[in-house]
Amino acid sequence: ETKKSLNFIEHIVEEDLANDYSKDSLRFRFPPEPNGYLHLGHASSICLNFGLGESYDAPVNLRFDDTNPEKEEKEYVDAIKRDVEWMGYKWDKECYASDYFQELYDWAVMLIKEGKAYVDSQSSEEMADQKGTPTRPGTAGPYRNQSVEENLDLFERMKNGEFEEGKYVLRAKIDMASSNMLMRDPILYRVLHKAHHRTNTDWCIYPMYDWTHGQSDYLEQVSHSLCTLEFLPHRELYDWCLDQLVSKDKLRPKQREFARRNLSHTIVSKRKLLKLVEEGVVNSWDDPRMPTISGLRRRGYTPESIRNFADTVGIAKRENLVDVSLLEFHVREHLNKITPRVMAVLNPLKLVITNYPEGREEWLDAENSPEDESLGSRKVPFSSELYIEQEDFREEANKKFFRLKLGKEVRLKNGYIIKAESCTKDKDGNIIEVQCTYDPKSKSGSGTEESLRKVKGTLHWVSIKHAIEAEVRVYDRLFTDENPDGHNDRDFMEFVNPDSLKVITGYLEPSLKDVKPGERFQFQRLGYFNVDTDTTSEKLVFNRTVTLRDTWAK
Ligand code: ATP
Ligand code: MG
Ligand code: MG
Repeated sequence: ETKKSLNFIEHIVEEDLANDYSKDSLRFRFPPEPNGYLHLGHASSICLNFGLGESYDAPVNLRFDDTNPEKEEKEYVDAIKRDVEWMGYKWDKECYASDYFQELYDWAVMLIKEGKAYVDSQSSEEMADQKGTPTRPGTAGPYRNQSVEENLDLFERMKNGEFEEGKYVLRAKIDMASSNMLMRDPILYRVLHKAHHRTNTDWCIYPMYDWTHGQSDYLEQVSHSLCTLEFLPHRELYDWCLDQLVSKDKLRPKQREFARRNLSHTIVSKRKLLKLVEEGVVNSWDDPRMPTISGLRRRGYTPESIRNFADTVGIAKRENLVDVSLLEFHVREHLNKITPRVMAVLNPLKLVITNYPEGREEWLDAENSPEDESLGSRKVPFSSELYIEQEDFREEANKKFFRLKLGKEVRLKNGYIIKAESCTKDKDGNIIEVQCTYDPKSKSGSGTEESLRKVKGTLHWVSIKHAIEAEVRVYDRLFTDENPDGHNDRDFMEFVNPDSLKVITGYLEPSLKDVKPGERFQFQRLGYFNVDTDTTSEKLVFNRTVTLRDTWAK
């Protein structure tokens, strides 16, 4: 195997290893906030962190960044665990920032004692005003020099639930003139009278992100804390927080940043995806049209295809918009290798073989995959009345139409060569039936001269009498715009594609009658499909994962 080139994060790790880091000191983490389901943006972070774990044989923690009880729920914790597991990764420790609430509190008390934090009771407007602007230094507020005793007393009373929300906050006392706005006495704690999904009502003050993340990394001894670029200005504060508590004999985590992944024709923001769910644009977080990991899973994507996609895109220092067709390329490539081929007709047109004995049936051999012999073969029933696709027949057409037309021949996949003789129309002129004859000696695989005869087109088909019906859900992109989230003057909701789902009845070969949710197939000439979780013993439901070719790239 050829060693692939290192991304810039791996270069940082290599450099650290060359300097003072031992290989055993490497530890990474993936730190989702449980306020929604994971999406394709998270997949990039998962592949980065767990990929580093694999490359360096280092542990990776799954850390729930659960400091905001207003938006977080157990349902999201469970969904996140399911998704990371499905991606094929194993975390070392399952951690929760909420497990550190006591340490974080104790450290905050320590800061107060050292004169490095104070309780402020101004309104948020007053505080914002004192903060200044990037070009105007901030000014000290009236509580900045409050006594340690007073601060300790107020902070304890905040914790004891004596104050309503918004009345008091704990702030770090850093530098109101710093060129980094985040260093101008950032808020460390706020009062929230909300039950937490893990700590229930034990706490009514909750630590802010900046007072939590680095400390959590330190407690878990994470060596490299990787986050997206919008946290670059937070790095100084991350380091300041660590300066307050790191002891020399323990590893000091370092924050490094990489670019968020953005994908064309979709949205990667939990808040906005939640809106799609809440407003009923989609049915659920795992609706197969959603760019969530659970939506992609339900749609029929494989973890391998998402990982291969992540590998191809790599990790960048600057944001860009990755074309979603690259993801579709990877899923096609993988499904081509692993799926059995079957025949299904989605827009049926009746075809009658006039010289095939009525009532006779035969079971033809059909190879399951030209890509993988180990997938074996099956039998498909053939009879005098079949369905083909409407678009596979025309009365007349030019030479480039390699399908069925009057007076011409095609091969029926796994079966015989047929010739269209005539057709029947309804009163509006729509073709409702095609009559044809077949060549009895041309059966595929029979070894006769006729069976080897080359005809231009091969069609898929099903025997009407034997076909089983299924609900088939055909998806299109959820957004019509390439960058629905990238318009200043228009909301992403304006670009929702009203035709992102089409539900049709498909007619399938009977080998599919006992399929189970999650199973994947190639419907020959139509695309890749998988069995949806809505399937019951009464009703089969299939999702179209992706078409066989990129029909958008025109
Ligand atoms: P959202 O805005 O969707 O809520 P988030 O960054 O707030 O995203 P978190 O749950 O905090 O979501 O993310 C967990 C990890 O995944 C973080 O390290 C975050 O930086 C990373 N991440 C989130 N979105 C992306 C993205 N689009 N590309 C790369 N990494 C991402
Ligand atoms: Mg976050
Ligand atoms: Mg968020």
